[in-house]
Amino acid sequence: MKMRYLRNTVSLSIDRESCIGCEMCIAVCPHDVFLMEAKKVTIIDRDACMECGACARNCPVDAIRVESGTGGVIPVLEEMMKKGKAD
Ligand code: SF4
Ligand code: SF4
Repeated sequence: MKMRYLRNTVSLSIDRESCIGCEMCIAVCPHDVFLMEAKKVTIIDRDACMECGACARNCPVDAIRVESGTGGVIPVLEEMMKKGKAD
């Protein structure tokens, strides 16, 4: 099962003006959050982002912002506990 976070809780954002289309973020993202569109990267699945920070750390022009850490994990665990399952 693909892990998903609660809708609209992910801090990920991209400055598409700064993006040089190197595709590094696509290469390092474990959840297929990005897609290349007209030589600029775009976010296609924001709710799949686990806020690991790999994309931001590897972007050569600092075009990605994400608050890496536990920010997206806590609400997910709370939701799982409410449902009484952890699948
Ligand atoms: S923070 Fe991690 S999961 Fe989220 S878009 Fe970046 S590389 Fe992908
Ligand atoms: S790593 Fe940065 S510059 Fe490279 S494609 Fe992603 S957002 Fe654009």
